[in-house]
Amino acid sequence: MAIFNCKGPIDAYCSGCNSHSIFTRYLAAKAVHTAADWLMMDRFDAAFTCGRNPSHRMIFTTKVDNVKRTMQKIGQYPSLAELSMYDVRKYGGVLAKETFQELKRAIGLAAHGVGIGSFVYLRRIFENLVEEAHQAAKSEAAKLDTGADWDDDTYQTARMTDKIQMLRRHLPDFLVENRVMYGILSKGIHELSEKECLAAFPAVKVGIEIILDAKIEDMERRKKLEGARKSIQALASANKA
Ligand SMILES: [Zn+2]
Repeated sequence: MAIFNCKGPIDAYCSGCNSHSIFTRYLAAKAVHTAADWLMMDRFDAAFTCGRNPSHRMIFTTKVDNVKRTMQKIGQYPSLAELSMYDVRKYGGVLAKETFQELKRAIGLAAHGVGIGSFVYLRRIFENLVEEAHQAAKSEAAKLDTGADWDDDTYQTARMTDKIQMLRRHLPDFLVENRVMYGILSKGIHELSEKECLAAFPAVKVGIEIILDAKIEDMERRKKLEGARKSIQALASANKA
């Protein structure tokens, strides 16, 4: 109900600007609706316009039932899936193309009320992240001078929580500390109801986002280090000359 009395400002993603923007309520001629006004209508729209461009709109539609005296939100533009997609775009750079598609699919499904299906994709993403770390651990051990010790047979037969423990040097701390997450995802697919999966979705999604945030940070730190190393080398050789 809050949205129908709200005049703004609302801070939200604008699909027109393709970035966050500030929205305020678009008020038509007869702007302020009372409960009595609503009951005279069978449908109610609340529109908000973007502060940068008034043709960018956010619209929420509600069905009013005059007999039962109830209101139900029946639609919104842009869709919830589109609104929630914006924040995951930054992960495109640290995920393989296919895995990134799966993350978007998981969010889209959850936004459409498909709980178990979204868990299937989240679990695959989780498994992919672990497999990436596994490959890194293996190739590190293959380089003789690192002295890293790796027992791949033990790894292959280990349970997921033990695998994560073995890979702890190659995985974000958050994932290692919260390795029970995988159990929740698997349980969701086999035992939890649609409703339970949807209720658990935000927490699990944030968990995966934290893991991906750590990957972004790591990538940026490496880039910075590499840049700094090159500049210092350039300075050093300039001084020599
Ligand atoms: Zn806009």
